[in-house]
Amino acid sequence: MEIIMFIAAPAAGKGSHAKLLSKKYNLPHISTGDILREISKEDSEIGAYVHETLASGKLVKDDITYKLIEKRIGEMDCKNGFIIDGFPRNYEQALKFDEILNKKNVKLSHVFVLDVDKEILEKRIIGRRTCEDCGRVYNLNNPLERPKQESTCDYCGGHLFQRSDDNIKSFEERYKMYLIKTAPIIEYYEKQGVVTHVDGNHKLEDSFKAIDDIISKDSDISDNNKK
Ligand code: ADP
Repeated sequence: MEIIMFIAAPAAGKGSHAKLLSKKYNLPHISTGDILREISKEDSEIGAYVHETLASGKLVKDDITYKLIEKRIGEMDCKNGFIIDGFPRNYEQALKFDEILNKKNVKLSHVFVLDVDKEILEKRIIGRRTCEDCGRVYNLNNPLERPKQESTCDYCGGHLFQRSDDNIKSFEERYKMYLIKTAPIIEYYEKQGVVTHVDGNHKLEDSFKAIDDIISKDSDISDNNKK
């Protein structure tokens, strides 16, 4: 069972690395942000609450995230492990995550912390665009990640949109939340001896290589999972 977690500030590259690992090792990528963005489209009281909270940059209430995470981890495709991005985001969620893993009698394999400077995060936030059809992520501020046409996906032709929380005001709140609530849990995992810090300031392929060098040595990653 391979359980890989990413902890990092907004736009540090959690989702991009998780997607690459998911493809390479055939493990599901669980992003609480992506699940919440889907919920935010629902025409319901919860949908409206989540929509408003995401746009503000604040954290969604724990009871909502607990329910969705327990349900998702319980699904069949997680039986050989999974990659989790966006959870836990505070100390209470970290305790809840341990409780879920203990119940399943499984252990966390790795926590990767992506270290990125705030000025670089700001640039990535402003330039980030996502395809509404296939979910591919681009960045207008990075020549290596720019789409050929500003608002069209190179792969599927879908429309590229900017997330409602990808603006400087929301970013400041999300970054503050990260420093106050999320960053302190790194120490909790350091005590468990599972943390690796990765420099995420440079090219995605460089930080991906650093991460993959560690994971590819794991005996839990069976040959069946490798692609
Ligand atoms: P980023 O890390 O770039 O801020 P995410 O997609 O991970 O993006 O999260 C977007 C938003 O979703 C967060 O700002 C927060 O409002 C909400 N969210 C995601 N995960 C959680 C969580 N575990 N607990 C509470 N809120 C969450």
